[in-house]
Amino acid sequence: MPLTEDAAPKADGVYLRVLASGSAGNCSVLLFRRGGVRRVCLVDLGLSPRRTVRLLAECGLGLHDVDDVLVTHFDADHYYESWGRPARRGEARGEAMIPRHVRVRVHERHASAAARAGVPAHLVVPFACGPSGGGVFEIQHDLGGATVWPVLTAHDALGSVAYRIEHHGSDGAATLGFATDLGRVTDALLEHFRGVDTMAIESNYCRAMQLASDRPEVLKHRIMGGAGHLSNDESAAAVREISPRTRAVLLHLSRQCNTPEAAQRAHDAGPCGVVVTSQHTPTPWLRIGASSSEKARLHPTVCIGSRGLFDGVTAA
Ligand SMILES: [Zn+2]
Repeated sequence: MPLTEDAAPKADGVYLRVLASGSAGNCSVLLFRRGGVRRVCLVDLGLSPRRTVRLLAECGLGLHDVDDVLVTHFDADHYYESWGRPARRGEARGEAMIPRHVRVRVHERHASAAARAGVPAHLVVPFACGPSGGGVFEIQHDLGGATVWPVLTAHDALGSVAYRIEHHGSDGAATLGFATDLGRVTDALLEHFRGVDTMAIESNYCRAMQLASDRPEVLKHRIMGGAGHLSNDESAAAVREISPRTRAVLLHLSRQCNTPEAAQRAHDAGPCGVVVTSQHTPTPWLRIGASSSEKARLHPTVCIGSRGLFDGVTAA
């Protein structure tokens, strides 16, 4: 049985749990609950199937509970290759690992990458959007609707997709922004996410640590040149503009060129509480769009992987 704090919440609402985030693999769970009905959406499949199954099981969930997968892009840390491999001889690629009922939401310009990664074609539900958004689709229709506004970011040649997800539940709307591997922050991106309840956003590197690292110059340039990742300061500036109503969740910290403390420090003067994610330890379940009394309790800063883990955290 899962530990109480790990178990998927039973109360109505929308919840986010980042299972892991970083260059060694990314996967998050979005849970929608309304009127006793539960729907589960994963953001990225960047962990091995075995580890994903184990981390879901700690919450009392299984792959069969997953309804949708939102893929940000197909770099190996966001889509683990063995999701597309047959588990047994004779099985079609990927069918054994991703249940047949799951809709894998993929930007149309990532469709070739999805095919190369072995995502079964009949699971892929393509969508379109540009750097200013322009696309919208619905998931979880039968739960009052979660509306998803994707926006294409400047990461590498094909970009990654950031998502604004709005759910209309029994206690009002709850809005989540989820943006990782951004490259750079544009005005359109800020506008896309302004005023969400919770903003999950990458805070990849400390600029001083990056410059001082022994990484090849070409790699530093790729990361810092506007088509790689956001520094802690760039991430904090974006969060100040977006001004989330409840909290920021800091994603994809570099193992070599960042620390949870440095990322947190950069965000200290921000407009909301901060949760720092980890490559190794899942976050608690974070309720999106909590009531105002809950918001007051949620505000303490949480640094996963540091001393005082979960002190003052309201998980759900
Ligand atoms: Zn990444």
